[in-house]
Amino acid sequence: MHQTLLLLPGDGIGPEVTAEARRVAEVVAPDLKMEEGLVGGASIDAHGDPLTEETLERARQANAVLLGAVGGPKWVGSARDKRPEAGLLALRKGLDVFANLRPAFCFPALVEASSLKHDVVAGLDLMIVRELTGGVYFGQPRGIDETSGIRRGYDTSVYTHPEIERVAHVAFEIARGRQGRVCSVEKSNVMESGLFWRQEVTLAHAEMGAGVDLSHMYADACAMELVRAPKQFDVILAGNLFGDILSDEAAMLTGSIGMLPSASLGAPGTPGLYEPVHGSAPDIAGQGVANPCAAILSLEMALRWSLGREKAADMLFAAVGKALDQGARTKDLGGSLSTSEMADAIIAAL
Ligand code: ATP
Ligand code: MG
Repeated sequence: MHQTLLLLPGDGIGPEVTAEARRVAEVVAPDLKMEEGLVGGASIDAHGDPLTEETLERARQANAVLLGAVGGPKWVGSARDKRPEAGLLALRKGLDVFANLRPAFCFPALVEASSLKHDVVAGLDLMIVRELTGGVYFGQPRGIDETSGIRRGYDTSVYTHPEIERVAHVAFEIARGRQGRVCSVEKSNVMESGLFWRQEVTLAHAEMGAGVDLSHMYADACAMELVRAPKQFDVILAGNLFGDILSDEAAMLTGSIGMLPSASLGAPGTPGLYEPVHGSAPDIAGQGVANPCAAILSLEMALRWSLGREKAADMLFAAVGKALDQGARTKDLGGSLSTSEMADAIIAAL
């Protein structure tokens, strides 16, 4: 039975980088069946809706979904549910992907690009696992109350036992394939939901954390340690809010945004959603100069985490490193290769 990868190129540079990821997929996984669909502004233009029910159903039926990027100036100012970004949110919700994985890896050839001292980032390889569908971004009640006495705005930070358990499980699983260390991050010194997070992660570790060394850190300390000595971390596990902040911080340790992939995983056996960390980059769209590495490395994560093709993933990761070692660089990395020439260099290295 063939595995299916659904490509959702989206907007801006999304189609440019996704097309290169597709060419690479044809080389590393020739038997993989690839389909394409519309999401974001492209889907609004075609169907008046940033994600149609039909496309969502195709995503659910696929083994993995590779998304380019959504959004652009054309759709700014549209109603909230008619914005390209609403398509991405609907896709995440529809696939129930609750664990967001963002690696921060410093390719040896790109150590120079980091804003930190070389010895701080050389050899850096960490993974942030962020809970994506709960916490303070979704907790009820929330609102702005301007009617009574003093005006106030409020959100609720809440996590349930199942929400923490399932994302902790993902972090332990990932750590077992790496150095086996998970650092769980919260603010248990000042937040009840943080104390609960620490308790639940500790319980989950006792039940399913065999072979994993678990430690805990306050989020503010973690933010500091990430720039002071990021190599101390293997896997960082965090809730939605702290994971959001820390993953952006970690991203900047490694140089260009054009290099950074991400994965969002749901329950075992359900399709994962893979996408570059970068957006649609309207400022360079249509010029053929976007760095395709983030999309290609997102494919690498799909091969590893949803398609069970670890060997192909290892080969692809090594090929990206080799192409960089040989000097292949797009503009954002200080070079002059076009989007497709960069992919050519990676394919040649394969
Ligand atoms: P969005 O709201 O979609 O995230 P944004 O403008 O906030 O858009 P990006 O689209 O990621 O963020 O762009 C930020 C900057 O990084 C832009 O200057 C863009 O040109 C650059 N950039 C983003 N992706 C790439 C890439 N793959 N290759 C080269 N440069 C990129
Ligand atoms: Mg942005």
